[in-house]
Amino acid sequence: MVTAMVRQDNAGVEAAQLIREMGLAMPDTGPALTSPIDGSVMPGIGFTSLAGVSAAIEQSVTTFNKWRSVPPPIRGELVRRLGIELRAHKDALGRLVTIEMGKPISEGLGEVQEMIDICDFAVGLSRQLHGLTIASERPSHHMREMWHPLGPVGIISAFNFPVAVWAWNAALALICGDSIIWKPSEKTPLTAYTAHALLERVISDFEQAPRHLSQLLIGGRDIGEALVADTRVPLISATGSTAMGRAVGMRVAERFGRSLLELGGNAATIVGPSADLDLAVRAITFGAAGTTGQRCTTMRRLIVHDSIYDTLLDRLKRAFASLPIGDPRDPAMLIGPLVDERAAHAMDRALDRARADGGVISGGGQLDGLYVRPAIVEMLSQTAIVREETFAPILYVLCYSDLSDAIATLRDVPQGLSSSIITTDLREAETFLSATGSDCGIANVNMGTSGAEIGGAFGGEKETGGGRESGSDAWRAYMRRQTQNVNYGQDLPLAQGVVFDV
Ligand code: NAD
Repeated sequence: MVTAMVRQDNAGVEAAQLIREMGLAMPDTGPALTSPIDGSVMPGIGFTSLAGVSAAIEQSVTTFNKWRSVPPPIRGELVRRLGIELRAHKDALGRLVTIEMGKPISEGLGEVQEMIDICDFAVGLSRQLHGLTIASERPSHHMREMWHPLGPVGIISAFNFPVAVWAWNAALALICGDSIIWKPSEKTPLTAYTAHALLERVISDFEQAPRHLSQLLIGGRDIGEALVADTRVPLISATGSTAMGRAVGMRVAERFGRSLLELGGNAATIVGPSADLDLAVRAITFGAAGTTGQRCTTMRRLIVHDSIYDTLLDRLKRAFASLPIGDPRDPAMLIGPLVDERAAHAMDRALDRARADGGVISGGGQLDGLYVRPAIVEMLSQTAIVREETFAPILYVLCYSDLSDAIATLRDVPQGLSSSIITTDLREAETFLSATGSDCGIANVNMGTSGAEIGGAFGGEKETGGGRESGSDAWRAYMRRQTQNVNYGQDLPLAQGVVFDV
């Protein structure tokens, strides 16, 4: 039996050492926080008051009024320096992510690398915030489209990517000329405090950057709600559960604000009869069990062709059973703990429901503390529990014989974030990528469903919220568009030939 291997040194003490190592002050004390690794106590962090939220927004408005006039390439220079700061502290911040959230150390470091990557991307973009010129039907007229800074941007983030998602938003918003206000997850305030303090250090050394350009609000749902309701914040970019997004989206729409929603997923992979099974086993195991099933893009459903079902399932069960589970600071461990006791209960409840629906379970079950064994559940059909996102390492497996049925199953869930197909058949791959194929924001071939690069736009359809962040043209969400018409002649021709002579 696999047991969770946990090192004896105290994760909470190491967290405090890492903050000091980065040359940062310890946060003001607040409610006790514990590491999911070993339950040890980490430095607490004080909550923001509701009055503090309003004051931060006021400062953010004042700051925005200055920052919007700084030329974009100079704004890019600030973000370039943030990238340098992150490179210098990649190891320490990556370890802190691991200690606070519980993901394996290579993923903690990968998360900081993602922050560095988006900084680099944003620096280049700061010289390319381009609009359009459009042919005018009126003589001696120019028509063009310009992009202007939008205002203070509210960023609400989830626990599972405690700093990278903030960086996606912050790097783009800053080069776009916006001030930023961050409400991180109440489960991961320490990494938020640290990443924000690194940015503040860069801001304080950068003459053109006004004070309070970036604000941090620590607290729970009430703090998020106050930010979301405030008309001084034109854009709320919120990452988290669909329940959160439903509340946030409606509240922001009510005040005619703009929201960018990155919500829950329920990713599926189809494995065709021609699939390379060695590649499939690796892609599926990382996709479903990596990050202990706590990615929005985690592979939760596997739809396997009946001709290879038994062979693939046998190999997957063996791969899952061999996964090293334990202290995620140890590079040999591939599976760390779940984030908290609630997550472990949610996994148990989901497995009970799947069993009641006739599911046959391999693996699962809690080891020491918050460590669980990833589970494979063979299902006869896509029942209600399979259509829900349970934020834990459970892979539901279904069998198909016809590709169109497999695609219909893949689409038949409320979420639409990520998907993939594993096949060496070109026709199958292209059908999957066509308009009648996957309905998700991300569609991959011969790989899993998680591990996106920052260069592409990231996000999904349906209950995933429709937002797009990170690469491609996602920057446009952080700016306002203006159509400009200039008459450089002496006449005043009207569009559509309208005559109005006075
Ligand atoms: P969560 O919804 O519990 O919390 C996310 C954030 O929203 C937290 O900061 C929380 O305090 C805040 N919040 C909750 N209710 C709010 C409200 N009514 N108003 C304002 N703020 C509110 O999510 P979680 O458990 O931290 O993260 C896991 C979820 O996030 C999963 O569903 C996962 O799929 C999703 N997620 C999605 C993406 C994506 O890009 N699509 C990325 C990461 C995580």
